Amino acid sequence: MATLDEKKIEEIIARVLDRLGGAQPAGTPALTTSHHTAPAPRKADIPRGTNGVYADFEQAAKAARRAFEANEKTPVATRAKMVEGMRRAVLANNDALSRYAVEETGLGRYEDKLAKNRLVAEKTPGCEILRPIAYTGDDGLMLTERAPYGVMLAITPTTNPTETILCNAIGMVAAGNSVIFNVHPSAAQTCNWCVHILNEAIQQAGGPRDVLVSVEKPTVESANALMKHPLVRIVVVTGGPMVVKAAMNSGKKSITAGPGNPPAVVDETANFGKAADAIVRGASLDNNIVCIAEKEVIAVDSIANRLIDELKRQPVLWLDHRQVKELEKVVLEGDHVNKNWVGKDAALIAAQIGVRGHGHDLRLVMMEVDEQHPFVQHELLMPVLPLFRVKDVSEGIAAALRCEHGFHHTATMHSTNIDNMTAMARVCNCSIFVKNEASYAGLGLGGEGYTSFTIASPTGEGLTTAIHFTRERRCTLKEAFRFV
Ligand code: NAD
Repeated sequence: MATLDEKKIEEIIARVLDRLGGAQPAGTPALTTSHHTAPAPRKADIPRGTNGVYADFEQAAKAARRAFEANEKTPVATRAKMVEGMRRAVLANNDALSRYAVEETGLGRYEDKLAKNRLVAEKTPGCEILRPIAYTGDDGLMLTERAPYGVMLAITPTTNPTETILCNAIGMVAAGNSVIFNVHPSAAQTCNWCVHILNEAIQQAGGPRDVLVSVEKPTVESANALMKHPLVRIVVVTGGPMVVKAAMNSGKKSITAGPGNPPAVVDETANFGKAADAIVRGASLDNNIVCIAEKEVIAVDSIANRLIDELKRQPVLWLDHRQVKELEKVVLEGDHVNKNWVGKDAALIAAQIGVRGHGHDLRLVMMEVDEQHPFVQHELLMPVLPLFRVKDVSEGIAAALRCEHGFHHTATMHSTNIDNMTAMARVCNCSIFVKNEASYAGLGLGGEGYTSFTIASPTGEGLTTAIHFTRERRCTLKEAFRFV
């Protein structure tokens, strides 16, 4: 493949900038990498990613544009090989990626990260999901194809650091784009190494350099500058409410995957043993830092005691009222969640209120509270799962809607009454609704269907795939190519 020299690159960039209306938009900060947010402490054994990793985000943007131009000349068959190579690279390095992610962020469980990375490598759709559509009739042929946008910006979270990078990379590269990653500062070292190994896989498959680039020391400032950067065509963010808001105000097309607060409603017709098992598996996945994980249990009063008995048979510590008060002082700071406990092991959290002797096997700390309790209302992102009672299933569904705060992200229900399940599906109106299994079945983990770790509820795409990272383009041919 012909390589582009610097002069040619500058020409291309000048042409693109020209087409987009010239220099940077007003309000864009000076284009240098800012270090306002302290970078995560370096973990000695995490390798330094260099392939596609840029100290300066302006250089990263130029490199990504250059890669897109080169990628446009790359055959679709090579693109498919690039995607397969990325899947294999993560499966081959899963142990290290999962370990580094836990070490660097201090969040989650190594063994659960192994499962999440494997899920993304195996079940994220690639090029095969992009199907051309043809219409033929008396007037001839109409063909719809899915074309890349160009340079995409992906802003990724600390909670699923490598999972989101791989998921976005597969979908965006399958669609023919190049990608700039501005990752979470507290996961940067692991994420940059992930970008490095994915680029190696792309290049081994015959793809161009810098199809994926990342900012070595990313900050909120570099995220905001890149969102407004003239070379960035579309912004995809995965994170909390602030980054969603920033993306929507960027003036660019944005796909935003924001927070959730998924309820698990259990009605009187449920299988309580199965429900308890599924709720604990779902809510404790990666210490509850996953956006789709159950964040509160809503039990119909008449069966609540039986459900609690079943929950107590699980690897769960059940707190009494006095212990709940103690825990509030630990995991809440005024009206906020104390971030120090996000993603930590349940045993460590239990020890803070004097319950010692539990190990890594303890999956959750649970308790009964009322609906207004902050453990219910906040997205805690830790293995602390409250339960509250409701009079009947209608009240339970209404409470689920209230607790979900209009995110329309994820909800789960345990029931064998089809009318109740249908009512909850309609009322909650979420991107993901799981019945009678752990929430993660909705990601395709033990459930049917493909996976995605960028679930766009605010902008409505749901589980994003390569389809959402393409533009639809139509070609019409009059009075020809009709065989019948
Ligand atoms: P976060 O919002 O703190 O950070 C996410 C990313 O956004 C990071 O790269 C961060 O640097 C950047 N960022 C944060 N504020 C910004 C701002 N004002 N301007 C520009 N960039 C900004 O989130 P987190 O703690 O990494 O992840 C947890 C949150 O993400 C939870 O709320 C969780 O529900 C949500 N999440 C959602 C999905 C989904 O698919 N919907 C997936 C994973 C996580």
